Order: sequence, then structure tokens, then C-alpha cells
Amino acid sequence: MVPTDLPGGTTSHSAPHKTAPARVPTRPHPARGIPPGADTIDWMRAVVVGAGVMGAWTALWLRRRGHEVTLVDRYGPGNRLGSSGDESRITRSSHGSDTHYPRWQRRALAQWRELESAAGTKLFEPAGVVWLASEQQTFEADSLVSCGSLGIPMECWTPDDLARRIPVLNPAGVPWALFEPEGGALFANAGVVAIVERFEAEGGTVVVGRVPGPVAEARDAIGRVRLDDGRTLEADAFVFACGPWLPDLFPAALDELIVAHRQDVLHFAVPAGDSRYGPRSLPVWIDFEGSFYGFPTFDGVAAKACPDWLGPVERPDESAREVAESTVEASRRILRTRFPGLADQPVVRRWTCFYEVTPDANFVIDRHSRLGDTWIAGGGTGHAFKHGPIIGEFLSALVTGDSQAAAELAPPDDRFSIRAREASPSFRTSGKNPLEAARS
Ligand SMILES: Cc1cc2nc3c(=O)[nH]c(=O)nc-3n(C[C@H](O)[C@H](O)[C@H](O)COP(=O)(O)OP(=O)(O)OC[C@H]3O[C@@H](n4cnc5c(N)ncnc54)[C@H](O)[C@@H]3O)c2cc1C
Repeated sequence: MVPTDLPGGTTSHSAPHKTAPARVPTRPHPARGIPPGADTIDWMRAVVVGAGVMGAWTALWLRRRGHEVTLVDRYGPGNRLGSSGDESRITRSSHGSDTHYPRWQRRALAQWRELESAAGTKLFEPAGVVWLASEQQTFEADSLVSCGSLGIPMECWTPDDLARRIPVLNPAGVPWALFEPEGGALFANAGVVAIVERFEAEGGTVVVGRVPGPVAEARDAIGRVRLDDGRTLEADAFVFACGPWLPDLFPAALDELIVAHRQDVLHFAVPAGDSRYGPRSLPVWIDFEGSFYGFPTFDGVAAKACPDWLGPVERPDESAREVAESTVEASRRILRTRFPGLADQPVVRRWTCFYEVTPDANFVIDRHSRLGDTWIAGGGTGHAFKHGPIIGEFLSALVTGDSQAAAELAPPDDRFSIRAREASPSFRTSGKNPLEAARS
């Protein structure tokens, strides 16, 4: 891992963009599949299925490496049905005692900011992120140590600091808070649109179409996919980054590894004209123990405030995608304690999307164990959006056999591999569902 991405995310990571890639690979491609351990491949045809944050960044990175890349999505890039299709996502360095994700987050944020200036669209609001700590768990204290060891700026706030810095927050019962001055909000949907526009501008091809599932997994390679409308796409390598739909496409490999949970998203109207709910006064906030989080208002109208506890298990194509009234009631109860000024405000936007949850909250970024030409990116488990650029950079290195670039970005363990995993604590919040706790 290069330390130059810390602190301040100043690493230069743009691969040279090869326009007009040569049509002849540097060595003959095997008829089907790229053998593990092969040399770096200079040119190939790649098909990336799924234009959410993982697929879009992977397609862009593969294109920047000079490959012929087609990005396919059943609803088109930037659609609102995928997990990336929401207004905002948090970017923060704190991951408890883990030091790999903070490094990725810093490097990724630098890429988001580069994309922002290339696109001329606001993609990041540097509002800061405040974690409301509790006596019971050590996530914030561990994050303070691990991020401190990486030189990432962190501040410890007392309850008095909290009351002074965030006038609309009631700090009662919060012993201390951890503040990340360099964290904030990414504009998710706009971000995905911007990546895909870059990808097309740099010579990538976008196709709206659906790859029917399940994919036949008991063979050595895929070779070609036939879309619902009959079009066929042939490639040397396939990347499937299909978010909560992945287990439907690869039930043998992923059914037990990735489980889709419907998450309810609520936006409460802010009191008219009250600038204290804007990003200058209100950072993004996370109550780890309470499994609840929220954002300042970005439009002066509504502020997002959502449960992070896991919602019901639902298949995305079978879900009615309706927000449960019980979620609204539970959210109002939490807001009454923490943000009393929002608790009785109307819910002006409600939304559902899916956490694609793995047992240990680590992503899946790996070659399919049987299909030699097929790679999987998914299992975001509610915290992958911010890391999208590095997921794409890392996966593009794996797919093309660039072991040096892959090693530079790889975690110190096999956390991203397709295998049976032990359940372990979340990297987002403690994840308890108070509605279930009340029922039991
Ligand atoms: C409510 C909520 C809050 C979150 N908050 C945060 C946060 O604060 N910070 C953070 O970093 N992360 C957060 N996340 C997690 C993050 O948003 C997701 O992990 C990430 O967006 C997943 O991206 P993806 O590319 O894997 O999947 P998706 O965005 O779901 O993209 C998959 C794409 O595949 C397409 N597709 C599916 N099947 C097919 C098919 N058969 N053929 C063709 N196309 C297909 C879909 O149309 C879709 O566009 C949150 C997630 C949710 C749901």
C-alpha cells in the first residue's frame, strides 16, 4: 500500500488514457477465459453488467487501461432502482480498528473530487461527519486510534462542544462525539451519471439491456451473453456488478454470501427558513449505537434521516418497495430525542433501496470460482458507495492481471473473496433493529 494517499488524498492515480486501442492483443487470448496468474493483458473486450457505482467505476478504469468496454444496465446508468440510485451517501474514514477501508476511502475521495472537477457538477459536500459515541461500544474510540495512526484528521467533542457546534442537536446522554472534518456527503445519483458520462467521453459503450438470470455456473467460462432483446455481447472478460440482484444471477456462488435487505429512506421537511439544518451548521451525523444517521438539508427543503438497522429480506424484483409505517414511527421517536425540531415535520420524500449484505460486512470482489472469465463486484453492505473508485481501480487490475497495481490496493487479508464467511460486526453501525428488539 502506498502511503502517499494519506493524509489529504493527493495521490495521482489516473492511468494514462489510451485512445484507439490496438485491436490485436499482445498475446493470443485463450478461446474462453483468462487463466489465473497470467501476465498483464494489454487489450481485451470486456463487458461490465450493472451501471451502479461499482460497475460504472470498473468500466471507466478498464477503459482507461485501454480495453474495449461495454457497460450494460437493465434500467440504464443512474437509475433509481439500484442501491446507488439515491440523493446522497456518506463518505467517512472511521471503520473501527480497521485501517484498510480508511486508506481506500481517502484515495477514493480524491478520485471523486477529480471527477467532480472534470464533470463540472457538485458531487461532494464537505460538511464533515460527526459520530455520536456511547459508553457501551468502542467503534469511535477505535476509529480515533486507527485513523490517527494514518494521519487522518479527527476531533473529539464533549457534549458542550456538540451543543455549541450543532445547535439543532440535543446532546443529552451522549458522552462524547468523534468529528471527521474531512468527511461529508457524496451526491450519489449525480455521481454515477458523471462516471458514465466520463466513460462514454473516453470511448466506452453503454447498452441498456438485461442479462437474463440465472447464469449457468457449472461451466468453465461465459464467453457471450444474450440480452433479453436478443442482442449478443461477446467478451474476453465479464464483470457482474448487479447490486442486490447478484444472488438471482449467481445463486450457486452467492445465494448464501449476499442477502438483500430492503432499507427505508426518509426525508423530513426542515422548518422553513431555518439555516441551522444546512451543511454549514449541521454535519452528516451517525448514531452508531442507535443505528440511525442523517444529513443536513442540501436544498433547504428536506433533510434525510434514516434507520441503519437491517430491514426485511426481500428479492428486489419481488419487493413492493413500500416504506413501512413502523419505520416512520420509529424514526420520529429517535428524532424526538436527538433532533426535536424534525420529529413532527412532514415526511416529504420516502424511498426504498437495498443493502446487499455479506455476513462480515466486507465486499465481494473476486473471480467466480468456476467461470474463468467472470468477475463479481458486490456485497456493498451499506458502505460501498464511497469506495466505488477504488473498487473499480482494484478490480480493473485483477481482471487484466496487473498484479503490481492489484497488490498496491489489496487488503492484507482475503476479505473480498467468494467463500463461506463468519458473521462479524458491521462497519456502519451496530445494526440492531429496535423494532425487532421491542417485539422479542
Ligand atoms: C439506504 C442506503 C444507504 C447507504 N448509505 C451509504 C453511505 O452512506 N455510504 C456508502 O459508502 N454506502 C452506502 N450505501 C451502500 C452503497 O450505496 C451500495 O453498496 C452501492 O451503491 C452498491 O452499488 P452496486 O454498484 O454494487 O449496485 P447497484 O447500485 O444496485 O447497481 C447494480 C446495477 O445493476 C443493474 N442490473 C441488475 N441486474 C441486471 C441484469 N440482470 N442485467 C443488467 N443490469 C442489471 C441494476 O439496474 C443496477 O443499476 C447505502 C445503501 C443504501 C441502500
